[in-house]
Amino acid sequence: MRNYVATSLYKDVSKEDWNSWQWQLRNRITTIEDLEQIVNLTDEERQGIGKSLEFLRMAITPYYAMLMNPENPMCPIRKQSIPTVTEINSIDNDNDMDDPLFEDVDSPVPGITHRYPDRALLLVTDQCSMYCRHCTRRRMAGTTDKALPVEMLDQALRYLQETPSIRDVIISGGDSLLMSDANIEKILRKLRSIKHIEIIRIGTRTPVVLPFRITDELCSILKKYQPIYINTHFNHPDEITEESSIACDKLADAGFPLGNQTVLLRGINDCPYIIKELVHKLLKIRVRPYYLYQCDISSGLAHFRTSVAQGIEIIEFLRGHTSGLAVPTYVIDAPGGGGKIPVSPQYMISQSDHMVVLRNYEGMISSYPEPEERVVNHCNNCEECKKHYDDPKVGIERIMYEGKGRLIPEGNIRQMRRNRFKTY
Ligand SMILES: *Cc1c(COP(=O)(O)O)cnc(C)c1O
Ligand code: SF4
Repeated sequence: MRNYVATSLYKDVSKEDWNSWQWQLRNRITTIEDLEQIVNLTDEERQGIGKSLEFLRMAITPYYAMLMNPENPMCPIRKQSIPTVTEINSIDNDNDMDDPLFEDVDSPVPGITHRYPDRALLLVTDQCSMYCRHCTRRRMAGTTDKALPVEMLDQALRYLQETPSIRDVIISGGDSLLMSDANIEKILRKLRSIKHIEIIRIGTRTPVVLPFRITDELCSILKKYQPIYINTHFNHPDEITEESSIACDKLADAGFPLGNQTVLLRGINDCPYIIKELVHKLLKIRVRPYYLYQCDISSGLAHFRTSVAQGIEIIEFLRGHTSGLAVPTYVIDAPGGGGKIPVSPQYMISQSDHMVVLRNYEGMISSYPEPEERVVNHCNNCEECKKHYDDPKVGIERIMYEGKGRLIPEGNIRQMRRNRFKTY
């Protein structure tokens, strides 16, 4: 959907300027006055711009603003980028948190979140081209609108260097591609000099909100540091335009596998048909749907949250009905730093010692016979097993190995009662 009302505002802008990411950044829309020239603001939006800016700044690239429907406040592009008073009014004081995923708690040094055994998040900037109203990192996104100070970045890189268990680094922010080409290259060169880092991932929303950032020069810099996986963030089929398609084409042609992370958002994409159109359009531009996120409980997002049932229903509509490639993993990022937990419709409906009973997407019920003779393939005896014999086992994996093991939640009352009498 092209916004023809606003074209008059930008009619004197040269094509060269319009297609320049630096021009788009310099001309981001940050005030009511500017925005009013593009859309017919509602009172809710007008008040929202004033108030919510204390929490998360507003900045919208002219490119993204042009995708807005000037007359319809329900427009998915508008809802993602223009604050409304609901953002403040809907704060759920009982449940909301500034940092629900404990990204700052699981942070050994500024700029790093190290939650999983073998991978870590490297937050290099708090700047984004467009500040998404549904941003889960709204506690930090846009606070300075700048990159991480050099000393902190060096410290973060030093942590990665000194932690050999990390084989996968996810560069994120903010939006990691808002750094200059030179600074991106500096970070990549450093990461590539660390032997234990096998893969690098880049998280960026630029293909969606600032597609001109994906220049040939950027691609040729990134290419030198393969393997690099790029994850972007399309939420709605209207975001897939000629420009964003070109950006994804350039990245795919340069050899980067592309993934997409969508946030399930009430009133924006909480509909199986919208998500289905989105995932199909993504595959056409060579972007593989990776995660569908349940909306986090960061303060100010309550009005965007859907029920978990809605997410399950969406997966029910996709799995089996369309290409497996089009089906993202639906995850809830557990409050308290538990990480991403996949949730899905139930496909295994029963189990006995020799059969599992399954249902497919059509409702057909089948049984699958378990093998007569149970063969345990990791024997703890062959060379490969022996090599890992002493590896520390985590969680359920530990119980599986030890057989009689137990995992007991901290503060379990029954356990504390036992300990109280343990005087012998
Ligand atoms: C999402 C995330 C990762 C990457 O998780 P994958 O499931 O491997 O994509 C790593 N660290 C943190 C803190 C994350 O939030
Ligand atoms: S691009 Fe990502 S970090 Fe930036 S505002 Fe949007 S969701 Fe938040």
